[in-house]
Amino acid sequence: MMSRLRSAMRQSKRGGVEVIESAKTTRKRTKTAVKEEETTASPSSYHTFTDPAAVVLLRSELLTWYDREQRELPWRTLAVTEPDLNIRTYAVWVSEIMLQQTQVATVIDYYNKWMKRWPTVQDLSAATLEEVNQMWAGLGYYSRGRRLHEGAQKVVTELKGQMPLTVDSLLKELPGVGRYTAAAVGSIALGQVTGAVDGNVIRGLCRLRAIGADSTSPAVTEALWDLANTLVDPDRPGDFNQAMMELGARVCTPKGAVCSQCPVQSHCHSYRKVQQNSKKLLGKLGGKTSSLPDIEECVISGTCRLCPSEPWDNALGVHNFPRKPAKKAPRVERTLTCVVIRRGDEGEDEYLLKQRPDKGLLAGLWEFPSLLLEEESSEMKQKRALCAVISRMLGTSVTETLLQHIGDIVKLYDSVESQKEQTSKNGKKQNATGVKNNKKPLPSKKAKLGAESSGGRQLSLSCFFKAVKEES
Ligand code: SF4
Repeated sequence: MMSRLRSAMRQSKRGGVEVIESAKTTRKRTKTAVKEEETTASPSSYHTFTDPAAVVLLRSELLTWYDREQRELPWRTLAVTEPDLNIRTYAVWVSEIMLQQTQVATVIDYYNKWMKRWPTVQDLSAATLEEVNQMWAGLGYYSRGRRLHEGAQKVVTELKGQMPLTVDSLLKELPGVGRYTAAAVGSIALGQVTGAVDGNVIRGLCRLRAIGADSTSPAVTEALWDLANTLVDPDRPGDFNQAMMELGARVCTPKGAVCSQCPVQSHCHSYRKVQQNSKKLLGKLGGKTSSLPDIEECVISGTCRLCPSEPWDNALGVHNFPRKPAKKAPRVERTLTCVVIRRGDEGEDEYLLKQRPDKGLLAGLWEFPSLLLEEESSEMKQKRALCAVISRMLGTSVTETLLQHIGDIVKLYDSVESQKEQTSKNGKKQNATGVKNNKKPLPSKKAKLGAESSGGRQLSLSCFFKAVKEES
C-alpha cells in the first residue's frame, strides 16, 4: 500500500522537481590556491564510488530492501499521501526537527499530537510559545520547538504563508534548519535530488567506503556529502535518503551491525576487510591488529585524509568505523536555587518563577530564580549574591537570614510533599521552602510546580511583588 502511494506521489512531485547538482568548481592552479587544494583534494578512489554500474546496483538493492522493510511512520505516510505541497513540506519539516536528537519511537506520539493540533503552518503560527513548549514537554532540546514556532510565524508573516520550496531557501529562511534538515525536507517532501547526511548515514558511508579519519573533520564531512550526492537516486531521492537512514538505524547500527542482512553488503569495504581478516586468521596469519586501508587500493597511502590514523582492530570488525575524536569531559555547573513560595488567594501555593533568556540552554522556559555557583566564592558571598537577585526581582530587600537551606533542589518536591503529609497528620505548622515564611502556614493542598499557560495561574513579577508587599 505504501509503495503504491509513494509511486503515485512520486509522479506528482517530480512535476515540480528542481534537480540539485553539486556545483563542480574549477580552479586555476595559482599559488594562493595550492594550500586550499591540499585540503580539498579528491579522495582516493578507494573511498568513493567510481563505477556508475555499481552505483545503479547499490541504489536498486537499497530501495528494494526499503520498499520491503521500511517502518510505517506517520510523517512518511503524510509525505506520500498529502497532496498539498505546503502542508507536506510543513509536515516533513516538523518531523525532521523532532527527530533531531530524539528516537523515532519517542517522536511518533508527539508528532501525531502536534499534527492533530497544528495541521498547517498557519495553525502553528497562531499558537503561543507557551503552548508550543507545553506540547514539546518531555522531548528535550526545547529550542527546537521554539524555532519551529518562529519559523512558522516567519512563513506566515514574511513569506505569505508559503513554505520555502527549495533546499537553498529552506536553509536560508527557516531558523534551526541546517544543511541536513534542508536536504532531508527538500528530498522527502519536494523530490529534490540531493543527498542527506545525518548520523546514520555517516556511519553507513564510513563503513561502506572504509573512511576512518575523524568523521567530524571538515574533510570527511565534505567527502561524505559528495558520496551522498553521488549515490542518491535521481528518481526517488527522498526514498533513497530515508533508506540510507533506515539502514543505519536498523542494520548498520552503531554497535551491532547485522551485515548478514545488509542489502548493500557487496559494496562494503569494511565487511570485505572483516572477511579477509577472518581468512587470514584461519590461515594462522592473525594478530590483534593490521593496518587499514588496503594499501594497494588507496592510491594516496600514508597521506590520505580519509584513512584512519589508528590501526584496524580485528576485535571491533566493521565497528572500527566511523571514528570520532575523544569526547571532551562534560562541563560541570552547580547552581544555588531559591524557591520563594507564598499562599495565593484561594489558599494554594504560588511559586516565584523567572523566564530564561531567549537564547541558549532551555531558552524561554520558566524556572526558580538561581545563581551559578563559583567554586572560589564563600557560601556567605554566594547567599548574598542570590539575595541580591531575589531582591531585584521582588523590588524588596531579602537578606541571607531569610534563607533556609533545604539541600538538593531536585528532591524538594518530595520533601515538601512528605512534610505536608506529616503536617496534616500532626496538625502542626511546617515550612520547607527556600525562604522562611513565618507569618502564614503552608496549606496542605497539593503544590503546583511550574509555569502555567496564559489564562492559567502564572503571575507576572509585578503582580507577585504586590502580593508580597501586602503580606509583609
Ligand atoms: S555490510 Fe555491514 S558494515 Fe557494511 S554497510 Fe552493511 S551492515 Fe554496514
